[in-house]
Amino acid sequence: MSLEDHVEELASDLDVNKEEVKRDLENLVNYSVPMDEAKQSLRRKYGDGGGGGSGPSSKAIDEVSTDDSNVTVTAVVLTSGRRSIQYNGDEHVIREGELADETGAISYTAWDGFEGDLNPGQTVQFGNAGVREWDGKPELNLGESTDATAVDETLDIDAAVGGEADLRDLEPGDRGITVDVQVLECETKTIDGRNGETDILSGVLGDETGRLPFTDWEPHAEIEVGASVRIEETFVREFRGAPSVNISEFSAVTPLSERISVAEDAPRMSVEDAVESGGQFDVELVGNVIQIRDGSGLIERCPECGRVVQSGQCRSHGAVEGEDDLRTKAILDDGTATVTLILDDDLTTEIYGGGLAEAREHARDAMDKSVVADRIAERVVGREYVVRGSLSVDEYGANLNASEFEESTADPAERAKALLSEVEA
Ligand SMILES: [Zn+2]
Repeated sequence: MSLEDHVEELASDLDVNKEEVKRDLENLVNYSVPMDEAKQSLRRKYGDGGGGGSGPSSKAIDEVSTDDSNVTVTAVVLTSGRRSIQYNGDEHVIREGELADETGAISYTAWDGFEGDLNPGQTVQFGNAGVREWDGKPELNLGESTDATAVDETLDIDAAVGGEADLRDLEPGDRGITVDVQVLECETKTIDGRNGETDILSGVLGDETGRLPFTDWEPHAEIEVGASVRIEETFVREFRGAPSVNISEFSAVTPLSERISVAEDAPRMSVEDAVESGGQFDVELVGNVIQIRDGSGLIERCPECGRVVQSGQCRSHGAVEGEDDLRTKAILDDGTATVTLILDDDLTTEIYGGGLAEAREHARDAMDKSVVADRIAERVVGREYVVRGSLSVDEYGANLNASEFEESTADPAERAKALLSEVEA
């Protein structure tokens, strides 16, 4: 059915002006409210009970499916975070988070027509909540037509209330999250925002469980390098395949009197687990380098964009005068899977045993650039390394930008034992 058809149907059912219905319906639909929910809302607005008073059925959370259009759910509010979105030039504040009952948890979005409290820990009956599919899963839409009633009932839920989390446990999509962290890196960036040029902060946060990048869209003065802070009402997005903490105008940042200690080491993972996780901001892998890939050794980069130049051509800038650089792309295999390591000029200098000047001379003497990559291969292929860095997984494959690359000193038998105990755990 087209929008026009829905308008026809509503206007005739409700006996109201077609233009008026159309304007309202377009508004709701543009605002991402699902069609069924939008129509239900208008039926209420124009005084139709919406199906003879038989409201949507009560369901347990694990029974809610993407086939449902409207349901009634009684659940505990786990988290609630505000976010402003732009719609038709106006700013709207929506609330997002998770609800749970004895059977499971579900995420929700509360649009600005929703009138109800969403206090973490409170049990609420949500009458006539819309259901939409989000990321393949059902999500509740709380709108104008949803009735929220606080219920004096304790549910035996298997989930933490309030959104306090360790960095290690954050996943893209998490909302209304509170973290206690130390600011490890922080810089101001100027971006083209909704309302012209604006300053944001970006950097790295750490706690006992790990490190994650962050963006503060509304710079908070309390966020500075070395500060230990509690940040409430953050949301998590994916950035280069790994979770990133987003801080907004709604986030509260409070300095902590106690210093938050930060894990020295990155968590060690098998290559398979790391790749399957979709990305890791900071991870340690151990494996054998089995091959050096093309594009290693003495390479040329475009002076405009830094991309590697092939035969004097940049993919974006055409014919350019390339600038020499050193880089290594190595394939690491730990027996579970493989990943491409990218070593920058410093790490490449270490394993090659010389810098740009030596590499240029080496290539000139041999009248062949590939001798540089060949020497790197001779030195590292077949050896075992401990590698730390940032892993991204995308359509180009799994790539780890290495910050540390050291030959493994562990006894192979000890390592095998450690790996086995990890598998058995
Ligand atoms: Zn370029």
